[in-house]
Amino acid sequence: MTISKSKDDGKQYNPSKTKYHPIEDACWKNNEKAASLLCSVVDLTINRKVPYLAVAKTFEAIESISARLKMIEILSNFFRSVLVLTPDDLTYCVYMCLNKVAPSYEGLELGIGENLLMKTIAQATGRSLEKVKEDAQQRGDLGLVAEMSRSNQRTMFTPQKLTVRGVFTKLKEIATMSGNAVTSKKIDKIKAMFVACRQSEARYLIRSLGGKLRIGLAEQSVLHALGQAVYLTPPTQEYPPKIIDAGKGLSSETVKKNIEEVSLIIKTTYCECPNFDAIIPVLLKEDVHDLPKHCKLTPGIPLKPMLAHPTKGVHEVLQRFEDSAFTCEYKYDGERAQIHILENGKIHVYSRNQEDNTSKYPDIITRIPSIMKDTVKSAIIDSEAVAWDREKNQILPFQVLSTRKRKDADAADIKVQVCVYAFDLLYLNGESLVQESFCKRRELLYDSFSESPGEFVFATSTISNNTDDIAEFLEESIKGKLFEASNSCEGLMVKTLDVDATYEIAKRSRNWLKLKKDYLEGVGDTLDVVVIGGYIGTGKRTGKYGGFLLAVYDEDNEEYQTICKDGAPPWSSGSVLDHRSLPPVFESRRGHI
Ligand code: ATP
Repeated sequence: MTISKSKDDGKQYNPSKTKYHPIEDACWKNNEKAASLLCSVVDLTINRKVPYLAVAKTFEAIESISARLKMIEILSNFFRSVLVLTPDDLTYCVYMCLNKVAPSYEGLELGIGENLLMKTIAQATGRSLEKVKEDAQQRGDLGLVAEMSRSNQRTMFTPQKLTVRGVFTKLKEIATMSGNAVTSKKIDKIKAMFVACRQSEARYLIRSLGGKLRIGLAEQSVLHALGQAVYLTPPTQEYPPKIIDAGKGLSSETVKKNIEEVSLIIKTTYCECPNFDAIIPVLLKEDVHDLPKHCKLTPGIPLKPMLAHPTKGVHEVLQRFEDSAFTCEYKYDGERAQIHILENGKIHVYSRNQEDNTSKYPDIITRIPSIMKDTVKSAIIDSEAVAWDREKNQILPFQVLSTRKRKDADAADIKVQVCVYAFDLLYLNGESLVQESFCKRRELLYDSFSESPGEFVFATSTISNNTDDIAEFLEESIKGKLFEASNSCEGLMVKTLDVDATYEIAKRSRNWLKLKKDYLEGVGDTLDVVVIGGYIGTGKRTGKYGGFLLAVYDEDNEEYQTICKDGAPPWSSGSVLDHRSLPPVFESRRGHI
């Protein structure tokens, strides 16, 4: 038996095929199979690892459509082949799809500047930098320019084909590089990969390096695709697997339900432990239902935060929470701070996006031991860090907080003070609390920590289901009471207390509703604004407007004053770069422009 040339090449790989077979339709072979073919295959290594071209072909198929479910199916087909043939490469493949080289909290980012990438493309292909720049401007996508430049290039000998594992390792090395002559070292590494690119590989390699894959694949879809793959072709089987398509013979509703169940397990686990290096090895060895037992919430690993659903007014809140007890809290306008207290005494602060903000908030770190009660050995507090005026004892706007140094702040130099408004407790003394009711979590929060005015306080809250009381509380939150500045808060967060009151992280929960002043019916002004400029679109908006510059008319000075930029609204889609397609005036709500 020999490996067919076309399949081995990967050029025909098509994960969007209907009735996809994860072994027969793949363009690479299983490890053991490849080893047994030692005598008949010359280029053995490529067969033992997932070819990078398989990922590129998968991205190409996803990029060409807009239907989310089909995107998920395509990606899950690719994952099914990886699960069966080369499970050891699954972690790299998942990272590749998310365009990450490590969990977010490790702070390792790709995102190489366009200029450096253009220079590399020029050097690697022998084209002039000016020409590459010109093409990039015209096409609005450096990935496409890279692909085109590479395909027009002839090389003397064929470099070794790229593998997902190899590309991932190099990308990670590039993201970690620092020190002397780092730019030229990065260029050398990128060039070495670039010259080996075949077909659309160059497009996705350059986009990955630039930090934007632009295939329309969100993190939730990747997790869903992983769930679909794990359900259809379970990874715990010996090769050759007996179950290739677990949905065969079942009704489409049952298959959908089963996929959703497995996906939710993966999504929830990922929220509590957002680290694929921990999740994938367990997924490959254990039953997916046991995943949460192995990958648990751990202080020191930030979890995804629970988010709220928007509502338009008090009536809508009462309608939704008709039969359940709920509480209203002030919605503070600062930065989410997930405070992790480890048993070894270390304290970390993480952002809403799991970035490590510990060095940004040395002042929060030093105050935690004094507000912790003796009973606390380890904990995870959910809170909002809000800029605070110590002299006037009042909250300051978010804009003031955003002037704070983002990293390595020195406690002695801090000009903008913060007060921590704690609103939830997610972990206490070795136990995860996310499955407990909010009522219980809040009680434990109050029992385990003490307040220190201006430094660490509990979010102001009330319990009532009376329309007038809630409306009054909302008013107070926006206007501010004694000691708090006017416009102190954004509105209210309304949370269920007992029933359906767990900390839901895998989806935008309806257990938390937000009542923001900007959303309220009848609140908020409208402004008449004039479009005075258009930005040249890039990517999907190449050849169209990518955004607009808006202005209001200043009658006193008889001139237009710019007020903000706006992303291209629906009426601009398809409008070519022609001033006649710009509407002269349109209405936009304050706060939404
Ligand atoms: P948007 O999603 O519209 O950009 P946002 O960034 O304010 O708005 P929301 O989902 O509206 O996010 O609100 C959730 C955020 O509100 C949380 O991430 C948290 O930072 C903040 N917040 C302030 N006060 C509270 C509170 N009492 N309970 C929960 N979250 C709060």
